Amino acid sequence: MQPVRKSQKLANVCYDIRGPVLEHAKKMEEEGHRIIKLNIGNPAPFGFYAPDEITADMIANLPAASGYADSKGLFAARKAIMHYTQEKNIPGVGLEDIYVGNGVSELIVMAMQALLDNGDEVLVPAPDYPLWTAAVSLAGGRAVHYVCDEAQGWFPDIADIEAKITPNTRAIVVINPNNPTGAVYPQPLLEQIVELARKHQLIIYADEIYDKVLYDSEHHVSIASLAPDVLCVTMNGLSKNYRACGYRAGWMSVSGEKRHARDYIEGLNMLASMRLCANVPGQYAIQTALGGYQSINDLVAPSGRLARQRDLAYEMLSAMPGVSCVKPKGALYMFPRLDPEVYPIADDQQFILELLQQEKVLLVQGTGFNWIAPDHFRVVFLPNTDDLAEALGRVGHFLENYRLR
Ligand code: PLP
Repeated sequence: MQPVRKSQKLANVCYDIRGPVLEHAKKMEEEGHRIIKLNIGNPAPFGFYAPDEITADMIANLPAASGYADSKGLFAARKAIMHYTQEKNIPGVGLEDIYVGNGVSELIVMAMQALLDNGDEVLVPAPDYPLWTAAVSLAGGRAVHYVCDEAQGWFPDIADIEAKITPNTRAIVVINPNNPTGAVYPQPLLEQIVELARKHQLIIYADEIYDKVLYDSEHHVSIASLAPDVLCVTMNGLSKNYRACGYRAGWMSVSGEKRHARDYIEGLNMLASMRLCANVPGQYAIQTALGGYQSINDLVAPSGRLARQRDLAYEMLSAMPGVSCVKPKGALYMFPRLDPEVYPIADDQQFILELLQQEKVLLVQGTGFNWIAPDHFRVVFLPNTDDLAEALGRVGHFLENYRLR
């Protein structure tokens, strides 16, 4: 029999967060090892559950939720999202400009499928949340990575972005607050990105799924609020701000220069219709989440659980010889650097695999985020301070042995 091969469409598609090292970790678990998993931003296993009122609302609506919804989403959910876009000063978003999806993930794939022809280019940050690069590749496009500069607090390098714009560039992706770096971008920087988009007629895709996970009284500005004359697609959802990843409720809003995007919007509508609708129970949670008490604020306040965990992770990692780290201002991650003089790593996936085998701690290597060199890794600081201290203590122990070998 002929071997069954995967589609060539997948040739350049890579998503290492759930990649080969995770498979290894699963095998180790089957063998009875306890693995501390600092690899995915999934709050529930660490005791961060969705607020009760959201869950209660969803349960109460389960009977009605057994039917399909409108392809773009439930009216009440979209009304609440529309209000949210107004709070964020994103201009001109009506109900028809909002699409609810099975998480932001589905919408990223949909937005790229609707846009790209073979050879079209999309500017994606490096490091990135790798689904963006994967979705561009799957749609036949080419992800061109612009550098976020660690020496500048991981802010995008505007000159690098401009240098990488070609006649084939269709769009730029801005992930703010950023995964994996935790950077939150200031308004003047966002204005510079808008200026480039305006000048080169690029669509802005703004992934703002962490826009309420902010530390140190940081303020989040939606880039679409600065770009009323540029086509913007802004993504957000319940997964992180409301610790409800499993409900698979995300959305995107289209704003700005829509008149010239009728054809693209038709494409989006077609893809939204083809998958019938997003998970309906999850949609019932949206209105309550957006309108209710914002419990995330308690978690990110200086004495809140997430802020304390961030502080601990930052202190422990920064104290390790040859490790440096930009303190995150948002999101759930840190992206520390390993000085190549101290840790001459040739293959960072192998490095992460050895850490897993020796210390039973699972991280993701920096190249999994399309980072250019094998000298970074990502830490998720979701475990409580005791577990985090244990996990990072083991990372420190591994690094000590690595230095000595
Ligand atoms: N965008 C970013 C930057 C993320 O970090 C994640 C998940 O970790 C997603 C999108 C996907 O979120 P969702 O659960 O809504 O699919």
